[in-house]
Amino acid sequence: MNIGGTTRSSPKTALIFGVSGQDGAYLAQFLLGNGISVHGTSRDREMSSFANLRRLGIFDRVTLHSAGLTDFRSVLEVISRVRPAEIYNLASQASVGLSFDQPVETLNSTITSTINILETIRFLGLDTRFYNASSSECFGNTDRPADETTPFHPRSPYGVGKAAAYWAVANYREAYGLFACSGILFNHELPLRPTRYVTQKIIRGAADIAERKAEMLDLGDLSIARDWGWAPEYVDAMARMLAHDEPQDFVIATGEANRLDAFVDRAFAYFGLDWRRHVRSNPALMRPSDIALSIGNPEKAKRLLGWSAERRMTEVVSGLLDAEMALRAAG
Ligand code: NDP
Repeated sequence: MNIGGTTRSSPKTALIFGVSGQDGAYLAQFLLGNGISVHGTSRDREMSSFANLRRLGIFDRVTLHSAGLTDFRSVLEVISRVRPAEIYNLASQASVGLSFDQPVETLNSTITSTINILETIRFLGLDTRFYNASSSECFGNTDRPADETTPFHPRSPYGVGKAAAYWAVANYREAYGLFACSGILFNHELPLRPTRYVTQKIIRGAADIAERKAEMLDLGDLSIARDWGWAPEYVDAMARMLAHDEPQDFVIATGEANRLDAFVDRAFAYFGLDWRRHVRSNPALMRPSDIALSIGNPEKAKRLLGWSAERRMTEVVSGLLDAEMALRAAG
């Protein structure tokens, strides 16, 4: 341990907090593919199924640790043991909808965990580069495509937590010179998500109706518009941020927004179905406060990181449905 000075971290070793999640699993796959040794945490390594890592066939290639991110000692222990060159913080209660029901857990898991990691890097004097998963939810409604200068106005406990964690990262970068960045990522999707996320609910609902396992699908507000991208492209952007010369924050988005009913239309059209005959908008499923339009401007990422999104909403929907139908065919 070296307090006060800076100690070298292990070369080509990355530590992913939240490796069991959607982004964690794809980021692990991406980093392994680039020759990086990957360690990952779950709150309880013994209890987690790591289904996403298994599905990608990389479970045996990731060194797994248990770490409770709201517990400073736990974070200190795992970072001291691994001494990674890069840390990615992807662990938090990540559902906007659930954050209205679990506001305290959401805020703790987002803010305290981020500060625990920042404090540990500072305390150990590591030269580790740190990526923090921020979110478009910080912006709230965007009446024009949001960029890195757009003010925050979050509209959910999730967004409030992400905004606070964003400022903690900026503060540690400015105050202590840490290489710490926030990726302000807009929605990105993959087949690895549970159905509490509306996009997966639509995908599985449309497939169930096409297979005559269900008749109707209940959704909330169909008029909201979102900027949807494809998760594997977004984990590439995370790695690029840490490879950049200077620590900076970046908006990662497609730059295109579509309404939820357009997403639904694409999903049902995949099966030759008219969604209007099968989808109900149920007021009970509406959020206490929602974002009408969320769209990002990824120009800075294109200019400085050479990153831009390839897949837009229509390709995202067909990609999700191809994967869902392949899973069903495999039983
Ligand atoms: P997931 O929900 O798939 O994974 C998040 C991981 O965090 C889980 O696997 C879980 O790991 C851990 N976790 C869940 N709840 C808690 C909690 N209450 N306290 C501590 N840890 C918890 O999320 P994604 O992979 O989709 O997202 C990764 C990160 O990126 C998240 O921080 C999310 O908020 C952010 N983000 C995601 C976007 C998206 O569109 N996917 C958009 C913008 C930001 P375990 O149970 O093993 O401990």
